[in-house]
Parts: sequence; C-alpha cells; structure tokens
Amino acid sequence: MGVIDLRSDTVTKPTDEMRQAMYRAEVGDDVYRDDPTVNRLEELAASEMGKEAALFVASGTMANQVAVMTHTKRGDEIILGENSHIYVNEVGGIAYLAGVQTALVTETDGVMDDRAVEEKIRTENIHFPETKLICVENTHNKAGGRVVPIEAMEKIHRVGQKHNIPVHLDGARIYNAAAYLNVKAEEIARYCDSVNVCLSKGLCAPIGSVLAGGGEFIERARKYRKMLGGGMRQAGIVAAAGIIAMEKMSKRLGEDHENAMFLARGLNSLDGVSVDIDKVQTNLIMVDFSAAGLNGIQIAEGLKPYGILINGTPSPVVRFAVHYYITEEDVKRTVQTVSLVLNG
Ligand SMILES: *Cc1c(COP(=O)(O)O)cnc(C)c1O
Repeated sequence: MGVIDLRSDTVTKPTDEMRQAMYRAEVGDDVYRDDPTVNRLEELAASEMGKEAALFVASGTMANQVAVMTHTKRGDEIILGENSHIYVNEVGGIAYLAGVQTALVTETDGVMDDRAVEEKIRTENIHFPETKLICVENTHNKAGGRVVPIEAMEKIHRVGQKHNIPVHLDGARIYNAAAYLNVKAEEIARYCDSVNVCLSKGLCAPIGSVLAGGGEFIERARKYRKMLGGGMRQAGIVAAAGIIAMEKMSKRLGEDHENAMFLARGLNSLDGVSVDIDKVQTNLIMVDFSAAGLNGIQIAEGLKPYGILINGTPSPVVRFAVHYYITEEDVKRTVQTVSLVLNG
C-alpha cells in the first residue's frame, strides 16, 4: 500500500505529461528574455488572470515578496489579514526585504471586512506612515481553504480604489477558489492589481509561481526578482510544467474538492472527531480532535506507522490537504485508520 500524504498539496509530484513536456521544452536564457517556454507561460498567466503581464518566479513566497517590494517603499504600511500567509508564513520577509510595517485586520473565515480595512488606512499626518498596499488571500489557507466571495473581493478593491491604494491578491490557490465559485480565475483577479498564483500546489508543477499585474508593475517586479537572486536561466525546463498546470490541471480541482468533502464527512462521523462540514469548500479541511483529547502531534504519530502523513502541530485542530494523488480509496483508508488510531 502506498503512502497517503495529506500534509499539503505541495507534495504533489509532476505528472508524466509534465515530465515529457519538461524533457522536450525549448529553452534559452530567461534573464535575456530568451526562453520561449517561460515567455509562453508568462503570456498564458497574464491572459488567465486578465492582466497585462506576468513574471515566473521560484515560489509563492517570492511572488508575494516581490509584489510587496514593488508596490511599496521602506517605511510604508500595508494592510493584511492577521492569519495571512504573507504575515504568518513568510519568515518576516515583508519586514526584512520590503522594510514595511503592517496594519493587521482580523479575518472571519478568511474574509476581511471592507470597513475594517478602510479604518486601517492612514490619514495624512506628520506622525504617520503611508498606507501603500492592501493584501487579500483567496483561497485562505489558515481558514481551511475558505473562498473569499467575489462580492467581498470587490468591496475591498473599491476601498483601495477610493484611496488610491493597490490590492495584491495572494492567489496561491486562486484556481481552487475559481473551481468552487464556478467562475474563471480572472473573474476573481479582476478585483486586484497584482496576483500570485502557485503552480506547485494542487496544480502539480514541481516548482514555481507566477506574479501577474500591470505591464509597468511587472517590469519593475522583474528587477526585484533579480535582486532576490530569482533571475533564472533556462527556466523553461520548469515553466513547461507550469503551462500544463495552468492549462490542464486547473480544470480538475473540483475532483479534489469532492474527495475533501468525502474525507470531511467520513472523519466527522467518527466519535471524538469533528469537522465543520458547512465550512468545507475546497481541498483543505480542518479536523478537530479535542473531543478525543488528542493533539495534532499525537494524531500524526498514530497515523504514520500506517503510511498516512499529516502535519501535526500541538493544536487539536489539524489540516488535512487533499490533492491529485489522493483517491477515493485513500480517503476510505484514511477514515478507517483514524478510527483505528482513536480506538486502538
Ligand atoms: C503556499 C502558499 C504560499 C507560498 O508558496 P511557496 O511556493 O510555498 O513559497 C503563499 N500563500 C499561500 C496562501 C500559500 O498557501
């Protein structure tokens, strides 16, 4: 029996089709803009997001960091969610690299209230920094893959426009949001000025993200990418997989969402385990083991000998991530095994 890896959707390996495309990829030196495959991916990403241009970068973190650096200058303030990936999980890069400070907004199910965002915008005062960016995350990772509704995106964008402040969307999983809402990704990206899209999560590419935005913005972002050491040479080798990620893998995420719901229902039916089914929307589910008196570390240790992997933390609430390599059979085996661990 194979390993069932539910730690993250980043564990997805490239598909056979991706490996073939990588083997055949036409390449060149991308710093000279000579790599036709990277150019093709960037054009595709711009068109998919409804933006003028896009930039292939090494990771989602790099996309977000480059975006913040490009939108701001040192000493500016940015508004973002207190549970956002940019704030929580990027090693303090916005402070260290961009030199900005943060105004945090509490999210409810991953959604920031537009009035709360507007209240954080600084007025002109000799004592104050200037607010230069608003960041939104969709789907929201820490909220368990929750989708920020289009209306909420639109309201925050309107606040930004009113105050002449751009909105950056951390759309690491924007295609999961699009699949859930049954819209094209550009319908979501319409309400931001720049967007990060991860190719290496549920879309199965081995490496990379794209940052999309206005033409002039992306030109400046290209320099920050180079500054961070992210000017890659024959990057078409990996961009080739990114093209398949965007063109093809983005269209099948609904299957992951179905399996995630199946897993959520199965786990919720076990004594001592609870999953708020109404909150499950995409490929991430939050599973609460408090009633069983167990935390994530204990659950992870219990499952490991059976070849089931999760990221255990000291919290009783554990994230399970469903992806391309998790089948319906895997879901059944996971539910059975969790039951065994709890009762054994
Ligand atoms: C994973 C993730 C990122 C960063 O992507 P990496 O490629 O791991 O650097 C950014 N934002 C969100 C919401 C993510 O889930």
